[in-house]
Amino acid sequence: PSADDVFNVAVLGATGSIGTATCEVVASLNRVDELPTWRVWAASGHRKLDELNTVASSLDPAPERLIFSNVDVAQRFSGAKNFEIHAGPEALVETAQRDEVDIVVAAIVGRAGLESTLAAVDAGKRVALANKETMVVAGQLVRQKMAASGAELLPVDSEHSAIFQCLGNWASVRAGDLPMDATCPKPRKLILTASGGPFRSWTTDQIASATRESALDHPTWDMGPKITIDSATMMNKALEIIEARWLFDLPADAIEVVVHPQSIIHSMVEFDDGSVIAQMSPPDMRLPIQYALTYPRRLPCPAPPLDRTQPWDLSLEVADRERFPALDLGFEVAAAGGTAGSVVNAANEEAVGLFLDGKIRFTDIVSGCRSVLEHHTHDCDPTLATLLELDLWARNEIRVRFGS
Ligand code: NAD
Ligand code: MG
Repeated sequence: PSADDVFNVAVLGATGSIGTATCEVVASLNRVDELPTWRVWAASGHRKLDELNTVASSLDPAPERLIFSNVDVAQRFSGAKNFEIHAGPEALVETAQRDEVDIVVAAIVGRAGLESTLAAVDAGKRVALANKETMVVAGQLVRQKMAASGAELLPVDSEHSAIFQCLGNWASVRAGDLPMDATCPKPRKLILTASGGPFRSWTTDQIASATRESALDHPTWDMGPKITIDSATMMNKALEIIEARWLFDLPADAIEVVVHPQSIIHSMVEFDDGSVIAQMSPPDMRLPIQYALTYPRRLPCPAPPLDRTQPWDLSLEVADRERFPALDLGFEVAAAGGTAGSVVNAANEEAVGLFLDGKIRFTDIVSGCRSVLEHHTHDCDPTLATLLELDLWARNEIRVRFGS
């Protein structure tokens, strides 16, 4: 905490689904007795001026600064005068490293969140990581930076939060001190659960003609558009396999995926004796967000508890890697490391954008990613500059392939 006993949180991506849920969690922590004050010290938005203003104006204590990462938009802002206004992507990086900031919530979507997340890691902050794309693009680099700076990385992604909770003292939030407790058993498997998305029970032919509207209609989670499409292709699970590989520093073959349509078991861990530990709660991101903020403390949370007055239905299904080829891609990229993650992440972001604009078919997303991955020259130990170059290259490859 800062000297004046306030926890200052920088919410990068405050106008999004995770960002607004984070602001609710912070507000609710301030209603818990005998805690220091929690303050959203900085909040960022990209294009939505009014939304950021609304979010910021509802916060108590009020934020010190607002950041519009889109410079053109920032110039049009004439709203509240009681905040410091900063503009441009550099302001995200500078904020992530400010001495006043204790915790950085990385809730920007996609590769756009990379620099500010790396900056927070470099500055040795506690980083509550929703932006899984950073781990996909540069997981190896993040681990090196964490070891150098002593930054704490706390997963917000519900599956990774679940695994983190199931691992007990084996898991560590800092690189280099893993396992945190040498007497704790190492896990044998990390078992990621997947809702299966809107096309879980669709045939290959039906999936091939999936529309934008059907892909945006997620059965259990209410999320931003990019991750919602990723859930429909199951590329979200592929990205999470890669994220788990780097967050927990375990090889790809220690990771499995099972389909669990109710989204109550958020993931599981299997130990050497075959015992499996699962974490359960209703699908509500406020719980993993809060745990990342308050770890190791568990405090009252605005997310509702599980309802045990009704019968429960918890089913587990084998993930179908044929109908959902993204899964194989995720395992391959997690095993390959190096530049593979940057290429697939960029190809996917570009392809999702084209699909949302009605320019390509649903199944082009994953086949495009595979094709671009196979055409790139792999480098096992890339620099950040190489990763960023390949990001641009892969986006261009997707546009060329689909003629747009
Ligand atoms: P969202 O689309 O609702 O919000 C995205 C945020 O990023 C917004 O605040 C937006 O202003 C900002 N942003 C967009 N483009 C930007 C750019 N170019 N530069 C700077 N800021 C930009 O997305 P979301 O669903 O909240 O997801 C955010 C991240 O959290 C993603 O990485 C996603 O994978 C991850 N995540 C989300 C959920 C969820 O339930 N929504 C669950 C797990 C992980
Ligand atoms: Mg997830």
